[in-house]
Amino acid sequence: MCTVKALSSQTMTSSPLRTLYDLPVSNNGARCRIILYKKEIPSSEVAVVSPMELGGLKTQEYLKVNPQGKMPAMVCTETGLNIAESDTICRYILSVYKDGPSFQPENPKSNLISRLHDMYLTTIQNCMYKAGPFGNFGTRKDAIAEYVKQMNVIESLIDPDDGMYLCGNEISLADATVFPSMIFAAHMLPKFDIEPPLPPNLNKWYNQLKNTDPVFEKVHDEVMSGLNAWEEKNRWHPILGAGWRDEEPATIFDKLMSGDIPATVVKQDDKIFAFKDINPAAPAHVLVIPKDRSGLTRLGKATEEHTEILGRLLVAAAEISKDKELGFGDGARIVINDGPDGGQEVPHLHVHVLGGRSMQWPPG
Ligand code: AMP
Repeated sequence: MCTVKALSSQTMTSSPLRTLYDLPVSNNGARCRIILYKKEIPSSEVAVVSPMELGGLKTQEYLKVNPQGKMPAMVCTETGLNIAESDTICRYILSVYKDGPSFQPENPKSNLISRLHDMYLTTIQNCMYKAGPFGNFGTRKDAIAEYVKQMNVIESLIDPDDGMYLCGNEISLADATVFPSMIFAAHMLPKFDIEPPLPPNLNKWYNQLKNTDPVFEKVHDEVMSGLNAWEEKNRWHPILGAGWRDEEPATIFDKLMSGDIPATVVKQDDKIFAFKDINPAAPAHVLVIPKDRSGLTRLGKATEEHTEILGRLLVAAAEISKDKELGFGDGARIVINDGPDGGQEVPHLHVHVLGGRSMQWPPG
């Protein structure tokens, strides 16, 4: 059994030969870490460092290392080469460090599984945790159905009686590639009513590695520490709302709720989300939206079942319209633009609360 040391973000005192910029939650980086841990490569050879050491993913300094602004990325001090793609990083590590398991870089089945994973799962995995868009798929529901379909393509390549790894009794790149994604899928798909989340062969393989192999267990715990932090920040509440329970495409409001685009949030609770309009039509201009759009792309879609949320939106609008710190005076204009003739642009019901000046009537 190999020794398993804790992953830490570290500031290097002397330059390591190679630096892997990565964080525990990154599932693409996790495949590189599985190889590092399995081969027991010391941090003097490959240091695992947080991108925050370069100021964060979107800084000029980090973008020089990985122009996509994503994790992982490897900087090779000796060659000056930056490798900003996880499979290429893995293959590079395997080509330099021969001790320990080979990970079978030439095994065609392993390579097929890894390629299918990278082409068809990785490209839409954000349907489980982001506001969209999700590759070619307009709705989260469609993207998740495709994710499940693609897991089943990999499932069909697994022989459950052929050893504990995906390609028999010997670990391969396919195990390192697919395992971290299955941590995400096992944790998140049940939130979207996909039960059980993993097909049977993948499930058996995943649990066996997680429960019996200390390196896979360690990487599982690293990724889960990041996912639990998302849980604490209530990341799923808005994501589970708009764009999931109805069939319409997500809008910019989903991104504002998930924090992918910054918003000046004025008020929110379990049902409503209120934020300053980016293009104010009055000194005070706030939009109030339902977190769960549930079919309310416009007011005209409202039915009996929406009575409670419509009431919540108006009560929130009333409270906001009395907030002097937001610039409201005595009274406000409460507007819902409904559909094309109503001048509605964003297909997610929203209540405009406008104030801070006297309004004219009739409106234009
Ligand atoms: P409507 O024309 O009734 O659909 O209103 C849509 C409103 O959303 C407009 O007043 C926009 O200024 C506002 N809006 C669009 N994008 C953003 C954003 N990123 N942050 C805040 N408000 C926005």
